[in-house]
Amino acid sequence: MTIASAISIEKTALETYVPPAKPSLIGFSRAELGDKLAAIGVPPAQRKMRIQQLWHWLYVRGAQSFEQMTDISRALRSELENHFTVARPEVVAEQISEDGTRKWLLRLPSGHAAERPHEVECVYIPETDRGTLCVSSQVGCTLNCSFCHTGTQRLVRNLTAGEIVGQVMVARDRLGDWVDRETPNGNRLITNVVMMGMGEPLYNFEAVRDALALVSDNEGIGISRRRITLSTSGVVPNIVRAGNEVGVMLAVSLHAVNDELRNKLVPLNRKYPLEQLLQACRDYPGLSNSRRITFEYVMLKGVNDSLDDARQLVRLLKGIPAKINLIPFNPWPGSAYECSDWDQIEKFSEYVFKSGYSSPVRTPRGRDILAACGQLKSETEKLSARERQALRAMAMTD
Ligand code: SAH
Ligand code: SF4
Repeated sequence: MTIASAISIEKTALETYVPPAKPSLIGFSRAELGDKLAAIGVPPAQRKMRIQQLWHWLYVRGAQSFEQMTDISRALRSELENHFTVARPEVVAEQISEDGTRKWLLRLPSGHAAERPHEVECVYIPETDRGTLCVSSQVGCTLNCSFCHTGTQRLVRNLTAGEIVGQVMVARDRLGDWVDRETPNGNRLITNVVMMGMGEPLYNFEAVRDALALVSDNEGIGISRRRITLSTSGVVPNIVRAGNEVGVMLAVSLHAVNDELRNKLVPLNRKYPLEQLLQACRDYPGLSNSRRITFEYVMLKGVNDSLDDARQLVRLLKGIPAKINLIPFNPWPGSAYECSDWDQIEKFSEYVFKSGYSSPVRTPRGRDILAACGQLKSETEKLSARERQALRAMAMTD
């Protein structure tokens, strides 16, 4: 196997978001909504109440038009209509599997009128005790992890807070998971959110922070921060910020137990080596035995899957309240790696389990299991059984 020795750490984000003439209200904070209302002439004395009403319609009821907001005066509704929308990302394709797994292909505007719009994916994975939504933070990724397909994409744009929370809203729209008369508490289909789709969430910090504040808002979508997991490849300076300012569960894409190998797999390691990364994990605000960090470890045949790697992994994580999530590698055309043999995954997993970590792989037998949400292809065929199994492995962050 050849591993490119000089993989660059990062590429630059090529595009910036250009808001449409008539922006969507989705993604604004209460204060920003107040400013928007002020701009269309809502008097100061009314603003607080109007913000509350809008908030309820947008994030509790999932209103898809101003027309539905019946406790807001007709005049104000039409004024809102003149200046704003409640648009979410556009759904271009939806795939539903027999077991209820759903994948949506979403279209987002590109920064240039002449360029094709971008597409990101969002996946819902139902299980007996929860339903997990896998959400993207960027179109493409500025980082170049050598085993990751997203890293090979040239175009990169940060998603806005509205586009991130918009993915949760699209999923609730499509699943019928909003509160209404028949379901006063909602159906509670989406119970968990994982930032494990395309992109590095800690390189789009502010938008991810603002979006997750909306997702976890008690008077809105209301998914608790303990049920939201942010996965990072190890952007050390932003890990402590994530703990302090976002307060969600953390997953770290470790994938290797020494710097030499991690430099190749996750080139960002050259900027923030293992020692710094693990220190940031030890210092993660709110870390405790009931709030552990999930360490993700992609199983690459002959690369990082020996029992010696397993031993070192356990040694490395000593003292950190941790869970280990072994992810079978999902090969893509042109990838330089293979997924570890299932036997080896089992041996690795057994060692880790005996060392006191919860059983890490929950997928049935089969060596060719697909893994990360960000790795799903964009074609519109149905999800295969393998994809579904692999998505479950990814969603296993509890
Ligand atoms: N950028 C973030 C989050 C998105 S990727 C991160 O790297 O953590 C979500 C997870 O999928 C990460 O652990 C990532 O390393 C893993 N992953 C990426 N490509 C994969 C592949 N081809 N097979 C299996 N897991 C992969
Ligand atoms: Fe980016 Fe994560 Fe893929 Fe690395 S694994 S290229 S950080 S999306």
